[in-house]
Amino acid sequence: MTSFDGFGLNEAIARAIAEEKYATPTPIQEQTIPIALSRHDVMGIAQTGTGKTAAFALPILHHLVTSARPPQRKSCRTLVLCPTRELSGQVLDSFRAYARHLSIRSTLAIGGVSMGGQVRALLNGVDVLVATPGRLLDLVKSNALHLSSVEFLVIDEADRMLDMGFIVDVRKIVFKLPTERQTLLFSATMPAAVVELAAQMLRNPVRVAVTPVASTVERIDQRIIRVDRGAKPIVLVDVLRHETIDRALIFTRTKHGADKVARSLIKAGIAAGTLHGNKSQSQRERALASFRKGDVKTLVATDIAARGLDVDGISHVVNFDLPNVPETYVHRIGRTARAGAKGVAISLCDAEEAGLLHDIEKLIRKAIPATDRRTHSDRAQMPASRSHPAPRSARSSGDRQRRRYREDPTRSDSPHKQHTSGAERRHGKREQADDSSNALAYVAFLRRSAPRRQQA
Ligand code: AMP
Repeated sequence: MTSFDGFGLNEAIARAIAEEKYATPTPIQEQTIPIALSRHDVMGIAQTGTGKTAAFALPILHHLVTSARPPQRKSCRTLVLCPTRELSGQVLDSFRAYARHLSIRSTLAIGGVSMGGQVRALLNGVDVLVATPGRLLDLVKSNALHLSSVEFLVIDEADRMLDMGFIVDVRKIVFKLPTERQTLLFSATMPAAVVELAAQMLRNPVRVAVTPVASTVERIDQRIIRVDRGAKPIVLVDVLRHETIDRALIFTRTKHGADKVARSLIKAGIAAGTLHGNKSQSQRERALASFRKGDVKTLVATDIAARGLDVDGISHVVNFDLPNVPETYVHRIGRTARAGAKGVAISLCDAEEAGLLHDIEKLIRKAIPATDRRTHSDRAQMPASRSHPAPRSARSSGDRQRRRYREDPTRSDSPHKQHTSGAERRHGKREQADDSSNALAYVAFLRRSAPRRQQA
């Protein structure tokens, strides 16, 4: 489809889309909108950045205006569940932008802010409620919200919802909804648990899918800088000084690490904000707002920002630490090169992260060009450079590291849990232990594989 005209969307919605300067539907919109307009359930495989918000928001808004009726008190006609506060805010903003010529009431129910305002906003009911699962259940428990008249349910980033441990809450919520409803579920990946969830929550869904995660990174100029572990802060400052940067998003593995990196940048005269789970909602909003406006050009974040964050003009993503899960690398670097723009992704990789880098290169099916800024002592631990992904057995350190995260989801840097202050306190010791065991694993791999490589 070459324009939005063919969908037959309400004229006021079509006008808003034109004002947003959306000339042609994205592939996920092209596939999803007609199905959602025909009231079928949808199971969509698409990541953030593909235009999936409009793919579900436009048909839902169309239904809401076609069967316009005032929402009941303390209830919502549409419920959108998102895993993070940031994504929730963005989804609400999109709904409001597309509904700017309609009289649609919409609000947000997220944690980290007081419930009073949300309770008041729900008193007379809303057409669209965008919520994170925990806060939504709190509102239901305190009798501020009834879910018995929900007509449309969207579960956004279902795989992330699972990763973050929200699945029990999501089930509780869905259990309270009427069975007579339209459900749209979106997920960047489709692990078995998401398929199972979809089977329980969707009725004869139509499956739509867009480009798999690994092939969306082609526009990004990816680079690796091999560094000594202790030299990362200096190299980061050097990178930020020498690149032409509009906005740079720096990722660290831990919240503590994000604060530390931001402090060292500020010390070096580079203004930097931070975004992670230990910050209050208002601090997070302020940091994002000044980053969006360009007042602060550098934002240091944990993976809370890896997905869903939609800030225009991020020219650079820098991985101060490589992520433990290779897919996260793709999500992180996807914060740049948005809406057809170009972007640069630079990853600082020390000796202990070799296994993680291998897993990433395997996922994206290419070797990332590397420059070497290591000293001799660190070079001795691993090959000087690699022009292709390492042999299979090199994955052992990354795999082992991930297995540990699965076994211990309380880790502060675990992809499964981000908010445990106890885990945060324990983190220092554990990180040291992990570092040395990774190094030992890598040395063991070199010993094991040396004779085989000689034969080859
Ligand atoms: P999303 O995947 O929903 O987070 O959307 C990613 C970005 O693409 C947002 O900034 C949207 O405003 C933008 N977008 C969505 N649909 C279109 C479209 N059809 N044409 C151009 N930009 C779009």
